[in-house]
Amino acid sequence: MTLHHSLLDVWVWNGALSRRYTACVGYEWLLAQEDGFHDLVWGWIWRLRILENLKFFLWQLAHECIPSAQFLFSHHMGLDTLCQCCHKTIEDAFHIFFGCDVAVTLW
Ligand SMILES: [Zn+2]
Repeated sequence: MTLHHSLLDVWVWNGALSRRYTACVGYEWLLAQEDGFHDLVWGWIWRLRILENLKFFLWQLAHECIPSAQFLFSHHMGLDTLCQCCHKTIEDAFHIFFGCDVAVTLW
């Protein structure tokens, strides 16, 4: 390696072939990192040998998008957040599977 003392030091971005950073290539790099992370963390769900609807359910549970009353209300699709079974508290995924007295009797 030969050093050229007449050249100025420059910043180099290794996330793009052009070696130049722009907001666009930075965003693309970030999305690629995130997809890899999600594939690594949640990819096992899709490789399970179970029914496809159970895979989808587990994915929803892992991503906190079970259509509970709280989820539907926060997405402007529900009238309130109250549990439709016990009418005691906010219905979120945790309440449905562990906290609701009515639902727990079904498990
Ligand atoms: Zn309940």
